[in-house]
Order: sequence, then C-alpha cells, then structure tokens
Amino acid sequence: MSVKDPDPQVHDEQELQIDTRGMSEGKRAALEVTEDAREKEWQFPSFAGDIFLGRVRFSLVHPFPAGERSARGEQFLADLTSFLEQNVDPQQIDETGEIPPEVIEGLARLGAMGIKIPEKYGGLGLSQSYYSKAAERVGSWCGNISALLSAHQSIGVPVPLLMFGTEEQRRKYLPRIAKGAITAFALTELGVGSDPARMKTRAEPTPDGKYYILNGNKLWCTNGTCADLLVVMAKTPVKGRDGKVRDRISAFVVDGKAPGVTVTQRCRFMGLKALYNATIEFKDVKVPAEDLIPPEGKGLRIALTTLNTGRLTLPAICTGMVKRCLQIARDWSNAREQWGAPIGKHAAIADKIAHIAANGFAIEAMTRMTSGMVDRKRHDIRLEAAMSKVWGTERAWEIIDDTVQLVGGRGYETVASLKERGEKPYPLERTLRDSRINRIFEGSSEILRLFIAREALDPHLKRAGDAVNSQLPMGRRLSSALRAALHYAWWLPSRYVPIAGVSTTGLEPRLARHVRYVGRASRKLARRLFLQMLKHGARLEREQLLLARFVNAATEMFAISAVCAYAQHRIDEGAHRDEVLDLADYFCCEARLRIDAEFRGVKKNNDGRGYRLAQRVLEGDYTWLEHDLVPLEF
Ligand SMILES: Cc1cc2nc3c(=O)[nH]c(=O)nc-3n(C[C@H](O)[C@H](O)[C@H](O)COP(=O)(O)OP(=O)(O)OC[C@H]3O[C@@H](n4cnc5c(N)ncnc54)[C@H](O)[C@@H]3O)c2cc1C
Repeated sequence: MSVKDPDPQVHDEQELQIDTRGMSEGKRAALEVTEDAREKEWQFPSFAGDIFLGRVRFSLVHPFPAGERSARGEQFLADLTSFLEQNVDPQQIDETGEIPPEVIEGLARLGAMGIKIPEKYGGLGLSQSYYSKAAERVGSWCGNISALLSAHQSIGVPVPLLMFGTEEQRRKYLPRIAKGAITAFALTELGVGSDPARMKTRAEPTPDGKYYILNGNKLWCTNGTCADLLVVMAKTPVKGRDGKVRDRISAFVVDGKAPGVTVTQRCRFMGLKALYNATIEFKDVKVPAEDLIPPEGKGLRIALTTLNTGRLTLPAICTGMVKRCLQIARDWSNAREQWGAPIGKHAAIADKIAHIAANGFAIEAMTRMTSGMVDRKRHDIRLEAAMSKVWGTERAWEIIDDTVQLVGGRGYETVASLKERGEKPYPLERTLRDSRINRIFEGSSEILRLFIAREALDPHLKRAGDAVNSQLPMGRRLSSALRAALHYAWWLPSRYVPIAGVSTTGLEPRLARHVRYVGRASRKLARRLFLQMLKHGARLEREQLLLARFVNAATEMFAISAVCAYAQHRIDEGAHRDEVLDLADYFCCEARLRIDAEFRGVKKNNDGRGYRLAQRVLEGDYTWLEHDLVPLEF
C-alpha cells in the first residue's frame, strides 16, 4: 500500500465496496457510517499494510525512525520524572479516588497539558516520540494521571484542532489548553459503543446559521467531570451532493461550563479509581457555528483520524507498566526462595521472566517505531498504530498477570497492606486493575482487528471488490473481473517467487535472518489471504475469526520487524550488543511459533462449531448449565 499503488476507482461516498446483501438494517447502517468515516486514500507508504500484500520494505523502518533528540524534550522528560517522583503519590490517588489539584496544576506548569501543541500556541511543541516517552514515564508511575493526560491530548480537543481546525479555532483554544484547560472527548452514548450509527445526540442549526442547538447524553466521558472544553460528536443535517439532506456526524468544541451542560453522574470503575469520568447531559446548549470543527458531517472521520495517532498513547503507557513489571519480577524472583532455590531458577517462573523481558522490549520497539514514523510525516501509520495498540495492550495484560502470578499472594495484595507488614510495596494489584480497560477503550481489540482487516483488504477490494459485489450491475462486475484477472495473473505467481529479497543491509546476521523470514512469511500470508478471498468472495469481510488470524500473523511480523530494527538501533548506539541480540532472537523465535500457529488455524479450526454452539447458548438451549446459582436479578 503506497502512493505507487494505483487506486483504480474513486467511489462516491455513499457507494460501499462491500457487498451488504443479506445484512440486517442495523449492520448495514453501521457499515455505511464507518465506511463513510474511513480515510480512503493511502497517501504515504504503509509498512504494515504491505505485509498483507506480501511485500516487506524493510528500508522504510531501518535505520530505525528514532525521532529527533532535542534539549527541550530531554529536559521535559527529566522534569516530568522528578515531578512524578516528588509530587505524585499513586497509592493515595488510587485510595482517595482524587488527583490533588496541585498535581494537575504542577503538570500544567511543566507543560504536560500541551506536549505536542506548537510553541506558537503556547505549547512545548515536542514530537510524537517525546509525547510517547512522556506517556511511558507516567504509565510506569500512575495509571490515573496517564488516563487524564491521554484523554486530554490523545483524543481531547488539541489534536482534532491541529489536524482539522481553522486557524481561528487554534488561536482561540490552543493557548488556553496549553496553559492547563482540561479537555475531553464525548462520542460514546448508552446505545453507542463501537457502533456510532446509533448516535442520538443532535445539533440543529439555528435559522440564522449562527448557532447549533445541542441536545443529547454522553456516556463515560473521561475528564468529563472537570473538562473546560469538550469535543462532542453529534448528528447534524447535512446536504449531500445530490441535494438530499441526511443526518451526518459532526464534531464541535463545546465549553464545559456552557449553560445546558450538566454532569449527571461520575462513573466509577474496577481500576483507574481517580478517573474523572462522567455521563453528561446536553440540553439546548447553544454552540456557536464557528466551533464546528470542519468539515461539517465529517465528525466521525475527524475522531477516527485523531485516534489513528492518539491510540499510540496506550502502548506507550503499557511500555512503562511492563518495565515496572520486569523490575518487580527480577527483584522478587531473585529474592524469593522456595523449594531450595530462588523461584527464578524454576523453569515455570523463568519462562515468564523471559516473556516479560522480550515482549516488553517488543512493545517498546513497536511504539517507538510508530511514533518515529509519525514524526517523519512520510508514513501512513494507521495500521502500525492499531497493531501496536492491540498487541501492546494484550501482551501488557499478560505480562502484568504473569508478574502477579510469579509474585504469588503478595501480587494480589494491596500496597497499603504490604506496607503494613513492612514488605516491599509492589503496586501490582493496582496496576492489574488499572490496565484491564486498555483492551477496551480507544478501539477495543475486536474492533481494531476488524479495522486492520478492512484496511488490509482495501487494495483487493478496490481492485476486485466490484467483481464479487452482487449488488452492482452485471456489466460493471464483468469489466471489474476482467481487470482484476489481468492484475492477479502476474500478482499471484509473484507471491510465490520473490522478485527481490528483503534488503537487510546493516543488520546483524542474527537479526537479518528473522527479517528475511518476515519476507517469506508475508508472501505466504498474501497468498493465503487471496485464496480465502476467492473462497469467500465479498463475504470474507464477515469471517471475523479467519481474518483475525491473518491480522495476528501480520501483527507478529510487524513486531519482528520492529524488534530487529530497534535492536540494531540500540546496538548502533553502543548498548549491550550480546544482550540485545539474545533478547531479540528469543522474541523473534517465539513470534515465529505464534505465526505458524495462526497459519495452521487458517487451515484447520473449530470456528464453525464454536459459532453454532454460541448461537444455541444464546437461544437458551443450555440454560441448564447455569443451575444451582444463588438467584440474581439483571
Ligand atoms: C473507563 C472508560 C473510559 C472511557 N472514556 C471514554 C471517553 O473519554 N470518551 C468516549 O467517547 N468514550 C469513552 N469510553 C467508551 C469506550 O470507548 C467504549 O467502552 C468502547 O468504545 C466500547 O464500547 P462499549 O463498551 O459500549 O462496548 P460495545 O460496543 O457494546 O461492545 C461490547 C463487546 O462487543 C465487541 N464488539 C462490538 N461490536 C463488534 C463487532 N462488530 N464485531 C466483533 N465484536 C464486536 C466489543 O469489542 C466488546 O468486546 C470509555 C469507557 C470506559 C469504560
């Protein structure tokens, strides 16, 4: 996927590339809304997207895109670290469910509310790489502050304004935000989780066109209880090219203190006890028309585009968390003796430690690589960021769980209780609670896998989608089929016989062999994916488990590439050559085993039986399995 890939047809916005025949009304509506919100062009090369096409352009990521170093960035990281250490007590924040106001003020004074906001608007003007490193530091210390900063500047007002806002909007809001005005992002509603088509919140333009009148309710708005400004998604009537007026989602900057904005509940969760998360009612809120983030009707696209980079914050936070886990795992596994040896000498625990170290290194490699790509501004990073988010949050969850397991009973105990006995206050119980949400918000794992699969199939759908779309006229299907046949007549054989190998110049031989493997494995993936397309036609889009296997395999290939490029970068910088090579080699061998398993699963699986069984469970055929319960109404 790149600028060189021809885009054979520009589709009208309302025309789907996907065959929606047989879909329920609700499914079709959801698909239409998300398709309309998709970024349809691939303006820059996509390293991860290419993997699905059987092409590995390692030169895109090697030398490693490390991000420019700056004195200001280094100083900020140092100041942030000492501020956290000296002023922020994560245990107290967890126990009281409140972040002291002086902590928020202190963070604002440091510039932490405007890390990426350009200096001309009063921000620090730092790169994505520095932003990710800052998220990593905060993530290693306090989940609640990570969430506050992340909701504020990964999905809150600053980024949509920088990407889509007018100059007036930027001048009006960004200096306030950089100084510490807290922002939030309000998309979710009672009926709107992953499916924005069901949105009820509306903004009606006033007859004079000067205002929109906003009405609706938003759920789980992080920072919502204290937000000075919110990005609110609402349906507005928008005239299409055909002159018809349709409801489209638009994005507005809304003053959190405006008349009609009411926090109706502070929501509480399993972890992140000090999250300022709210349900918010908007009742006849008068929003000035100039606070609509343009273009009108493209609010969801604005939100999703913002999230493309925004969701990188989560693997960055996870990087910090898992480094803390590694530190605890090493400390405890050396110190704790059971059955005549330190527990780290027992193979079952040693295996966990190897995974923690290697997977933690990989989360860091993927996040730093993608952040560096963002800074270069010549990569399309939507797949890399989504892969880093899914893979990073899932591995981080396993790592935290494994660390709790190897610490044993003390891993389950609160910091306060450990301290009471004078034991080491490992914050694992809190970290486990705080981290569970990472696989759900900013794109759940399931939805992001569908997103990655959709983007991975895009070149094929553009080329051959019409041929297999039974909703199109036969003439158009035939001409599309002919064009596709000509293309695939050379494309498919070329996925068997490599025209040129993957360039591994400048890589240590122990790393190069894994990158060459990625070249071979990606061709296998492209062939298999194509054969599945032939088998399932346009309905492949609905084969979620099958597609997830391809997505997982490609994500592992991206992880291997990131690890090898990052390992070489660390070695070139003079760091621990042998240790880095052993770590990377172990990681890549493990990832290759996982890729093999995903390919095996494509050929042989139990998906159909599982789906049928689940439907019978849902129909109530197995309620007898729920016998002997203490009654509970819900
Ligand atoms: C602590 C917290 C903070 C949050 N902060 C914000 C915020 O600041 N702003 C905001 O707007 N929202 C926020 N959210 C909402 C969050 O983004 C949503 O929880 C998330 O989008 C998922 O929506 P849902 O929980 O309604 O799940 P649903 O959409 O109901 O999904 C339930 C499950 O089904 C899966 N699923 C759904 N559709 C499909 C499908 N088509 N195929 C396969 N699987 C599917 C999902 O992955 C999930 O596992 C927050 C939520 C929480 C809990």
